[in-house]
Amino acid sequence: MKIFKHLSITIALCSFFVGLSQNQEVNIRVVPVSNQVNMLVGQGGNIGLLVGKEKVLMIDDQFAPLTQKILTAIKTVSDKPVSYLLNTHWHGDHTGGNANMSQTGVLIFAHENVRKRLENAQLEKKEFLPNSLPNFTFTDQMNFFFEDEEIMFLHFHNGHTDGDAMVYFVHNNVLHTGDLYFQGRYPFIDLNSGGSVNGYIEAARKALMLIDDDTKIIPGHGNFSNKKEYLSFLEMMEYLYTNISQAIASGKTENEIVADESLTEKYDQLGYGSGFINGQKIRQIFYSSLSAK
Ligand SMILES: [Zn+2]
Repeated sequence: MKIFKHLSITIALCSFFVGLSQNQEVNIRVVPVSNQVNMLVGQGGNIGLLVGKEKVLMIDDQFAPLTQKILTAIKTVSDKPVSYLLNTHWHGDHTGGNANMSQTGVLIFAHENVRKRLENAQLEKKEFLPNSLPNFTFTDQMNFFFEDEEIMFLHFHNGHTDGDAMVYFVHNNVLHTGDLYFQGRYPFIDLNSGGSVNGYIEAARKALMLIDDDTKIIPGHGNFSNKKEYLSFLEMMEYLYTNISQAIASGKTENEIVADESLTEKYDQLGYGSGFINGQKIRQIFYSSLSAK
């Protein structure tokens, strides 16, 4: 039963992404974040761009049909080539443009589980796009020295998936969280790809220790953000954790917890359920993750 519910969330999410990718009326918006960093908003995960004197480094690439529009948007901030692409995790709304981007000579970097999951997904579908796989993989942390900037590419265990990484631009003081942070809304936690509620909360706690009040944050989804908002998001996650783990400990069943609006009501009212994960779906995700042995 539980598996079917996971599956239905995943299928709903996939069709949501597929639906978006087929819509060609997408505009790519460029949001300046710091001197050298921009955020690109289109469809799917937010893109981060570090613009150097000679090269551009890019974080995530949304869907394949958008690549040309994304490259056109990049041209408005730099005439230099995109040389490096960092994938924050394997989901298609963050890696869908990989094959197109590698045709332009980009080198792709990601956690090792991103490559494994992309490879497995291709084996399952029997659709082979070898150029879409990361060229370089890492396990815990990778440091980049890009002109004057120092970049930390940090893995967090079993949060949104089992291959998540955040990117921290030290001198620009900008953090791209990937899908380990959904600004102002409930997150999707992909339990079928090794994600977990505990890992997700732990990632937010660790990331908040790394940054300061001036850090600018590019979330995986939602608006450009900051430490104060990220802290409110963590408080929301901890609140749901307390409520739902207490409900499980008191012997409530899965159906009771999923149906019990009071468990998430406080944050439903603040609009956290207005994205593609509503109050009911987040209660299901928390129940499934916290009751898993
Ligand atoms: Zn994702």
